Amino acid sequence: MKKRVAVGGFHHETNSFMDGSTTYDYFVSHRDRPPLVHGAEVLKWLAPETGSFALSGFLGDTQNEFEIVPLVWGSGGAGATVTAEAFERISAEMVARISNALPLDAVYLDLHGAMVTEDFEDGEGELLRRIRRVVGEKIPVVASIDYHANVTELMVQNADGLAAYRTYPHVDRVRTGQQAAAVLKQLLKDGRPGGRVLRKIPFLIPLNSQSTLVHPSKTVVQASTKESPGVYCLSYLAGFPSSDLAECGPSALAYAKTQAQAEQAADELQAVIETLESDFSFPPLNERQAIEKALAIAKDADKPVVIADTQDNPGCGGTSDTTGVLAELLLHDVGSAVLGLLCDADAAAEAHRAGVGGEITLALGGKHGPEPVVPLQQTYTVAALGDGKFATTGKVTGHRQVDLGPMALLRIGAIDIAITSKRMQSHDLGPYQHLGVNVSDYTIVVVKSTCHFRAEFEPLAAAVLVTISPGAFAADPSQLPYTRLRAGVRRSPKLA
Ligand SMILES: [Zn+2]
Repeated sequence: MKKRVAVGGFHHETNSFMDGSTTYDYFVSHRDRPPLVHGAEVLKWLAPETGSFALSGFLGDTQNEFEIVPLVWGSGGAGATVTAEAFERISAEMVARISNALPLDAVYLDLHGAMVTEDFEDGEGELLRRIRRVVGEKIPVVASIDYHANVTELMVQNADGLAAYRTYPHVDRVRTGQQAAAVLKQLLKDGRPGGRVLRKIPFLIPLNSQSTLVHPSKTVVQASTKESPGVYCLSYLAGFPSSDLAECGPSALAYAKTQAQAEQAADELQAVIETLESDFSFPPLNERQAIEKALAIAKDADKPVVIADTQDNPGCGGTSDTTGVLAELLLHDVGSAVLGLLCDADAAAEAHRAGVGGEITLALGGKHGPEPVVPLQQTYTVAALGDGKFATTGKVTGHRQVDLGPMALLRIGAIDIAITSKRMQSHDLGPYQHLGVNVSDYTIVVVKSTCHFRAEFEPLAAAVLVTISPGAFAADPSQLPYTRLRAGVRRSPKLA
């Protein structure tokens, strides 16, 4: 008889230091990812043939072998603290569906691992605790988690395997779901693992130093793929520094047949991370320094220079409408530049009213702070329009149907600005192509992204620079006013 396995997902990456909250309605809305889906709809939206999430990879490797019981799946992306209502409604639905589906042989969840709610600093730990209470002590519960998960002891004790993305930019979500499937299949033979170890690293890693395309994270990821006897799952998590919880930060995590095997694997990985501490430090450039450096590089380059406006990355809770880099671009003779994706629904609507070729005078962006961010009052020409409905093309999000609301390309001098009505991180060429923009035609390309853009934009670039312009996401964790972080953690890596 086929094993009965319940599957679901609940993602959020919480920036605790942002104003506002992430509501149930936000999970429900269809944005740059599927809306909140229930029961059989989960299998339709996350199908292996078209889905780009871990659950899609899990289903691809298991749906012929297991009897799959779909639960609920929702992603709130990254943003402010999740409301108690959103957490309780989605968790309650998941737990109720599991309870109704009993008896089950296993549960698989597609999680992020950095959710902070109004009531719980460790959202996933609380969810897993409730699920464990319903399914009992006999059956395995396995999850896939994001590379940025702030893993906690509560998560590790209630899950029996946590398979993590090994890439940033995340181009291996589907593979991670497949890894979780392999772990689960093994546990269905062996029973729940006898050993589990979480080692928290004593310093935070800035996001800009977490890319797995380069050392030191590349080195650590390689160490985490080493196979050891009895080990089901060995993971390096870089952590998400903008979540305020006691157990914030990077981890080495192992599940194995025995406690000794898990301890040995986790200890070895922890030693690799801690030995490289000083290599994780990150030297920032302000807007002026970044643009001057880009123009110097551009003199001898036949490709654009890409500047990452990291502190306004909506993937980390940025509002995607700050204007610091744009204002600085206007002060330089940049040849040509394109900046995106700037979210301003009012500007997009105004552009649609004016039509292509029309001129509009308005206060663009800058509507959500933080100090000293202000709107940029200027006259812009409408260079192109779009309805915001298109498919992504890149390695990070696969072929997702997205709906960003009305979009527009506004032009001021030699600078083009790609405007959306809903936030999306600039990690895909799809939104640009939708507006007829070929980013290779520009001298400077500014993206509101921290690292994900590298998958598509770095191969097109002469160089990549990162700038620290004021925004809701603080790239340097030592600037953050933590209230819950455990004592003794260094808020940025120690220099050698
Ligand atoms: Zn992530």
